[in-house]
Amino acid sequence: PYTGPTSDEILAKRKQYLSPSLFHFYKTPLHVVEGKKQYLFDEKGKRYLDAFGGIATVCCGHCHPDVVAAIVDQTKRLQHSTVLYLNPAIADFAEALASKLPGDLKVVFFTNSGTEANELAMMIARLYTGCHDIISLRNAYHGNASGTMGATAQSIWKFNVVQIGVHHAVNPDPYRGVFESDGEKYAKDVEDIINFGTSGNVAAFISEAIQGVGGIIELAPGYLPAVYNTIKKAGGLCIADEVQAGFARTGSHFWGFEAHGVVPDIVTMAKGIGNGIPLGAVLTTPEIAEVLTRRSYFNTFGGNPVCTAAGLAVLRVLEKEKLQQNAFVVGSYLKERLTELKDKHELIGDVRGKGLMLGVELVTDRQLKTPAKAETLQVMDQMKEVGVLVEKGGYYGNVFRITPPLCFTKEDADFLVDAMDLSLSRM
Ligand code: PMP
Repeated sequence: PYTGPTSDEILAKRKQYLSPSLFHFYKTPLHVVEGKKQYLFDEKGKRYLDAFGGIATVCCGHCHPDVVAAIVDQTKRLQHSTVLYLNPAIADFAEALASKLPGDLKVVFFTNSGTEANELAMMIARLYTGCHDIISLRNAYHGNASGTMGATAQSIWKFNVVQIGVHHAVNPDPYRGVFESDGEKYAKDVEDIINFGTSGNVAAFISEAIQGVGGIIELAPGYLPAVYNTIKKAGGLCIADEVQAGFARTGSHFWGFEAHGVVPDIVTMAKGIGNGIPLGAVLTTPEIAEVLTRRSYFNTFGGNPVCTAAGLAVLRVLEKEKLQQNAFVVGSYLKERLTELKDKHELIGDVRGKGLMLGVELVTDRQLKTPAKAETLQVMDQMKEVGVLVEKGGYYGNVFRITPPLCFTKEDADFLVDAMDLSLSRM
């Protein structure tokens, strides 16, 4: 049994010593002491079904024994900076990772986070093209350093960054967007931005395949191919931010962009890549990667042996346990069941997403799509009481984000839907 500090003691220290901007969503904050597979355990030993997976970071399941063994084994032998000496862990993982990407995307730069990966990707694009302008989507989240905060387009995540050369295009959001599911109409806005807001040439377009923080928004079909075309004509590079949608999560494909039939020039990733270990990566072509030889690029811990050993173990587990197929099968089943729930509860305005990256949007009026913000918090709290953890997201904070570890089962899916059904019935 757990014998450490109490929740109150931790909360008091957190209030005194940690950032005042830290937040938690539950009325009584959750104190988790252990994780196993798709479950988390609190200090009293109560088990929770983790349908959020620490923001999609845990793809193989909490504390997967193979990943833990790889980390422990490498830690016992050597842990140091990345680039000074030869080490097999980083080279082997780079090779394995490159084999998962299409085309010429074969050169890997490792980082410690998604923010760093996107900062690097944007810099590479600017160097390669000699242009500064970058186009991202409204409602996007790409990170919290100055460049990526500029590319992020939700006021709640933006401080007073000086935002130069970043343009935010109309979001191809099939639920709330003006053109509904007509991807090509939305794509016209990117053309307009290039024609009327830049010299005619741009450095890059960056987007997620499914917006995560933004509330599990699937980009309207046809949008990405049309925009990638436009960007190419304007001399720019296309960057796919796979921080959330990557690593088998969407089930039908290993990478989110693949479902749109496009091949990016640069792909960025983090979160799931290390199953909870701080790691990120940028993959691009040898020709584009060459720009970083113009100066010295150095990242002390990006791709260190322990994190890359973990990364390699993650890829092997995904393969061995066929977790992409599982994400597809269980995710499709879960989406079906959630969609049925929509017939029963007026509060559910939309159910969307792919594989094990699903969203349920709550509205108080289906016609007006009025965000049911307070209700979302309440249902989330009630679900926690019955032992199911989901997260909320979206600009209005009214979308349940369901991104569990990919070992989620049909029984887990049933339990989640029953818990949501019960909590919604109590509203
Ligand atoms: N891109 C996306 C799509 C993300 O969801 C996030 C994190 N929520 C980031 C980038 C930034 O990653 P990190 O927090 O590791 O810096």
